[in-house]
Amino acid sequence: MFHRVLVANRGEIALRIGRALRSLGIEVCMIHGREDRLSLPVRFADDARGILRDNPLDSYLDIEAVIAAAKSMGVDAVHPGYGFLAENADFVRRLEEEGITFIGPSSDVIRLLGDKIEARKAMEAAGLPVAKGSSEPVSTSEEAILLAEEIGYPVIIKAAAGGGGIGMQIVHEAGEFTSALKLCQSRARSAFGDDRVFVEKYIEGAQHVEFQVLADGKRAIHFGERFCSIQRRHQKLLEEGPWLTEEVRADIGAKVCAGAEAVGYSGLATFEFLRDAHGDFYFLEVNPRVQVEHTVTETITGHDLVELGIRVASGEALPLNQNEIEFTGHAIQFRINAEDPRTFIPSPGRLWECHFPGGVGVRVDTHAHIGYDMPGCFDSLLAKVIVWGEDRDQAIRRSRAVLSETILDGVDTVVPLHRAILDERDFLDRRVTIRYLEEHPGLLGV
Ligand code: ADP
Repeated sequence: MFHRVLVANRGEIALRIGRALRSLGIEVCMIHGREDRLSLPVRFADDARGILRDNPLDSYLDIEAVIAAAKSMGVDAVHPGYGFLAENADFVRRLEEEGITFIGPSSDVIRLLGDKIEARKAMEAAGLPVAKGSSEPVSTSEEAILLAEEIGYPVIIKAAAGGGGIGMQIVHEAGEFTSALKLCQSRARSAFGDDRVFVEKYIEGAQHVEFQVLADGKRAIHFGERFCSIQRRHQKLLEEGPWLTEEVRADIGAKVCAGAEAVGYSGLATFEFLRDAHGDFYFLEVNPRVQVEHTVTETITGHDLVELGIRVASGEALPLNQNEIEFTGHAIQFRINAEDPRTFIPSPGRLWECHFPGGVGVRVDTHAHIGYDMPGCFDSLLAKVIVWGEDRDQAIRRSRAVLSETILDGVDTVVPLHRAILDERDFLDRRVTIRYLEEHPGLLGV
């Protein structure tokens, strides 16, 4: 097992990973920028190094500075969390060169999965269902139109190197292609430095369902699914699980494990799918890291996923078999973003009051505290409130009770929106697609 690990991240996930490391008896090291020097993960760490940069994001993105910090603290591994360098194959390659373990898959696997065209091909070959689409990049509108006629409109143009929903364009007819293609290519070039795009069938009325996987390079198991259709700007706001029948879970679960094994995956991974109104699944992408919503799965399975990911990275074989993964009750995670609940514009500021709920079945993961200065330069996620119930109904009733106990003064938060969702008829009846917030504009009048 590792002796000392650097967490190359900040905020709630840095705190969460530090907790798992400490419970394994591993010393916790952190890096931090100027804004985070007094943050809880840094204060709780055994050792920390400041990487002070004019652009605050660079504190967590400067590969050579992070490696230098790792070496100066004498760590044997780095945990990337999510975001920042978590999916950066160059970073992982550099750690490999330095003989420092990356807690996650190899740089080759990250590179493969980071290319949506290659990932689609690999997963289709492993037997996963993928939407009809191009198997090579598309560069001219003539090519794209031919493909779209084969696939059938509407189609969606996506960046091969994409992430965060950036650049995606929906196309309903041939006439729209020229400008949509140019727009997607130029957004992809400026966001990812790679303007390769591809075309796939646009799945209408879709739900977002994802599977949690853990693998050790040889064998993979899954921890069931999470339902994450309530999104703003293609980013998740509320996640819950379980969602599927046992039969469907076993079917797709076996497929995602085959997909992970086919690429020699090691560590935690999430396989994301769209599920259409007929219940058909379409593979979207693999996220090769811990996800914000891993907590939902931990709550309904009782397993510490972050700890399992660290153990596998240290060279242990998978300590569990598929038949040992059981599901109890229902969990809902509310992302408490410091944002205006109508416009989702970030709302940085100092918290002069900060109180979170507790009680049976309630978990709060947060780095917030009274006096915390919520910076405007990072992600607006301030806390995650996860509520468990024996069934969805109880989880919803409990959620209504506990969300009203959240006090965060000094910033705006999306708590009022969550509370409105908890009373909305379609949500209660599980009639939720990825267009839920657009289709329920009344919720944003809160
Ligand atoms: P990114 O990596 O940029 O987040 P994804 O491929 O994971 O991109 O897709 C993000 C979101 O975009 C999905 O959750 C869904 O809302 C929408 N989307 C992507 N592909 C399709 C598609 N083929 N049909 C309909 N919606 C899609």
